[in-house]
Amino acid sequence: MEMNRPARSGAYGHDHDHSACVAEALARAEACCDGRGARLTPLRRRVLEELVDSHLPLGAYELVERLGNAAEGADKPAPKPAPMSVYRALDFLVSEGFAHRLESRNAYIACGREHAADDVVVFLICETCGATAEVASHAVGRDLAWATRAAGFTPRTRVIEIAGACARCAAAAETGGHAEAAR
Ligand SMILES: [Zn+2]
Ligand SMILES: [Zn+2]
Ligand SMILES: [Zn+2]
Repeated sequence: MEMNRPARSGAYGHDHDHSACVAEALARAEACCDGRGARLTPLRRRVLEELVDSHLPLGAYELVERLGNAAEGADKPAPKPAPMSVYRALDFLVSEGFAHRLESRNAYIACGREHAADDVVVFLICETCGATAEVASHAVGRDLAWATRAAGFTPRTRVIEIAGACARCAAAAETGGHAEAAR
């Protein structure tokens, strides 16, 4: 089971070959789109690239800014995309399963795992550094499906967001605590 887990999962964007991880995510999205007859247009691709590149949840307007900045190095700076176009690109990425929407933050994050579109996903969001890890749990999904059915409820979202401290921040806080105690 552990073997199927992508190496970058839970890496929080540190300690990994990031350029390979971005290239891999884009290649995977392109292959998926080809297989489904969907089109990864240049804007959709750029939005996904920014999401994968940051490994953090980004709001639509933040993406508009980043896409504008990204063009600065070019001979002719490209204009910032219209927010509406970015929203549409995000809708596409979410519906194709390349990204998820985090309701609590009004933000989007690249999907870090391969899973079915209707799987329940759990996000662990660090309140200190913003690092967000996606974990999937079939057991949680099963229990939730049972609980919602029992309540006669039709779920629209299948994303669970848990706020807390990532391993790094928890360790840093602990080290800080020990240092305090040693004084
Ligand atoms: Zn990466
Ligand atoms: Zn996902
Ligand atoms: Zn953290």
